[in-house]
Amino acid sequence: MRNEEMLLVPGPTPVVDSIYDAMGQETRGHTDPRFAAIYKRAIDRTREMLQTDGEVFVISGSGTVAMEMALVNTVTSGERLLIISQGFFGDRFLPLAKAFGIEADVIQAEWGKQVDPDIVEKKLAQTTYKAVTLTHADTSTGVAADLDTLVPIIKKHGALVILDGVCATAAMEEDMSKTYGQEGADGKIDVVLTGSQKAIGVPPGLAIVAFNQTALAAREKIEQVPAYYCDIYNWLPIMHDPTKYFATPPVNLIYAYDEGMKLVLTEGMENRYKRHEAFGKAVRAALAVYGMKALANEEAAAATLSCILYPDGVNDAKFRATLGKKGVIVAGALAHLAGKAFRIGHMGNTTEAMLEEAVTHIGETLIELGKDVNITEAREHFTETFHMHTSRS
Ligand SMILES: *Cc1c(COP(=O)(O)O)cnc(C)c1O
Repeated sequence: MRNEEMLLVPGPTPVVDSIYDAMGQETRGHTDPRFAAIYKRAIDRTREMLQTDGEVFVISGSGTVAMEMALVNTVTSGERLLIISQGFFGDRFLPLAKAFGIEADVIQAEWGKQVDPDIVEKKLAQTTYKAVTLTHADTSTGVAADLDTLVPIIKKHGALVILDGVCATAAMEEDMSKTYGQEGADGKIDVVLTGSQKAIGVPPGLAIVAFNQTALAAREKIEQVPAYYCDIYNWLPIMHDPTKYFATPPVNLIYAYDEGMKLVLTEGMENRYKRHEAFGKAVRAALAVYGMKALANEEAAAATLSCILYPDGVNDAKFRATLGKKGVIVAGALAHLAGKAFRIGHMGNTTEAMLEEAVTHIGETLIELGKDVNITEAREHFTETFHMHTSRS
């Protein structure tokens, strides 16, 4: 890899050489059939990754644009939205809904915990909601949503499931053909939205959204969505035939994304889910040796990133600056956890070797900051845990 640093923030994530190479190819006109063929293939690969029978949209924009596209095409002004929030990014749906006149209620989990499914069930029994948003992995807390429990509860009450996969898609199972809960019932995820720069491992700049047939039927009932760029009907003809024009796609980023999707499908979804699960468990097991605990308990923890609490006496700014000088870049924590924790991404094209090296450098950093820690033991915990979870069949 030509990268000089290990970018272990929860997005963007390390970009591999083949993706840089793809991105550096000659820029062509956005309706050139040679480019259109690559765009089409990238869309088809996305469809295959998510196993959807509906429509996939890959457009310029960050994950937030994908959130907006998902929402405005399914829920209209005056309808109700239920937001299930397990942190900062779950909460983001609230101002988003407000901006479009959508009435929203929030069920907020305590930071580090999952929401109580009984509360969700009660809320849905009391009030009719058009849709419910779930954040698959909340990037502020490192808490994962329990889809197997929540999706069937939501679908039973007839609401659409909108899944924010920005820090999860391609690393944690999101199978739009899967029936969550009881066979025979409608237990499907209706909308998955994501961005290019997290678990997919492509540079930032693409918003990716998939709508199933139920979600597309919801769009059909809306005469005019309060958006222009984010109206899926403006993009549908281009997604079917990228030689057509609506707004110029980011040609070079599409090259990169197509290569990223190739890497995802070549590794295979099951292998990726297993690798990320193992990454998460191994990183947390290793850092626990240093007396560093994850905010989320292990059952609720996301596979893609961890929010790690500092042991007493470790200064956040000093820790991250010292670690950064060793070439390992991690992120600070958000909101009330700022200064008390850091966030480490372990997703996308990050490798086992990189994470093991990061464990070493974190240990060295702690020693420089006056802590007495055992690096050898932490590395051993990392390797053992990783292999235990990847060799399991
Ligand atoms: C990063 C992130 C977002 C926002 O994505 P941007 O690309 O920064 O707009 C939304 N949701 C989750 C879960 C994220 O991790």
